[in-house]
Amino acid sequence: MEKICLKDFNFGELERWVRKQGWQKFRAKQIAKWIYNKKVASYDEMTDISKEIRQYLKENTTLNVLKLVSYEKSKIDGSIKFLWQLHDGNTIESVFIPERDHNTLCISTQVGCAVGCKFCYTTKDGLIRNLTTAEIVDQYIQVQRFVGLEPEKRISNIVYMGMGEPLANYDNVKKSVQIFTDERMAGLSNRKITISSSGIIAQILKMYEDKSFPQVRLAVSLNASDQKTREEIMPITKTNTIEDLMNTLNSLPFKTGYRIMLEYVLLKGVNDTEEDAHRLAKLIGKNKKRYKVNLIPFNPFEGSEYERPDEKRVERFQKILWDYNISAFIRWSKGKDISAACGQLRKKQLDNFISKDSLVKV
Ligand code: SF4
Repeated sequence: MEKICLKDFNFGELERWVRKQGWQKFRAKQIAKWIYNKKVASYDEMTDISKEIRQYLKENTTLNVLKLVSYEKSKIDGSIKFLWQLHDGNTIESVFIPERDHNTLCISTQVGCAVGCKFCYTTKDGLIRNLTTAEIVDQYIQVQRFVGLEPEKRISNIVYMGMGEPLANYDNVKKSVQIFTDERMAGLSNRKITISSSGIIAQILKMYEDKSFPQVRLAVSLNASDQKTREEIMPITKTNTIEDLMNTLNSLPFKTGYRIMLEYVLLKGVNDTEEDAHRLAKLIGKNKKRYKVNLIPFNPFEGSEYERPDEKRVERFQKILWDYNISAFIRWSKGKDISAACGQLRKKQLDNFISKDSLVKV
């Protein structure tokens, strides 16, 4: 029988499980503290828990569900890409991104992706499977342990922008957000967690209506200013039209500090013209305060059919949005030299990947 993993439990579930074993309720808090605060790698490190309980945990549960295969550190910006192996041999990636005053972790939610965005490397093999809650949460714990537990190394921001469409793995993503934001578990700030969706309208509405889904930030990959172009690069637009999507986003309850991010990957000659910028501004219309636009110049990968627009064109696009008083930022992706940039994470064949021993220790 497959062992349960404690990282699959939110706090309520952990408490119920602890009681079921006949242990006192406070053991749940103790166990959660060791896992999410101290980020221990083994039960033996849980020193204030009795030997008998630790032995029981060892025999009946698992603690780690990801095996580090390799990592690469960018010489340009210090971001680190991790390749993990799952119990069934599949692989996923996560990226640690150090910034001036905080650290961000970009995590994956699926092996592959079914959405099929044309500019994205992840989607090439289609969807293999959803990640479990533990596989999502363990990316945070293991990366934090790897980079160090000192305050300056602390991961404060989590972005669900790695492999997969997070809202297509709704239940496990929801539970991972509960774990990340629960004070008794990881205790991260809700405002520092961002779920990035390709724009599945029904799932976005479900998330906003779901009282047990902690409020976090939403980012939507828009990537075009008209139906035709968006449909060409994001086939999901056929059933989730750009008009319906914008109407939905405009209707969501708006709270200061939770502006919706519109992600816009700029593809040379496809969606980067001045007309596109004006159309995008019109699409946003009077709802300027509700949105922040992130312009992401495309990062070409081997075999990709798109190119990156030059810097001047990108800046011109931004300037047009500014003239409409829209907040727009250019995100030159991090980790370009290690293929860790937006849309470049992919299920890797282990034998094609650099071996751990051949890399310099970070
Ligand atoms: S961009 Fe995101 S949603 Fe689109 S195919 Fe890639 S991983 Fe999936």
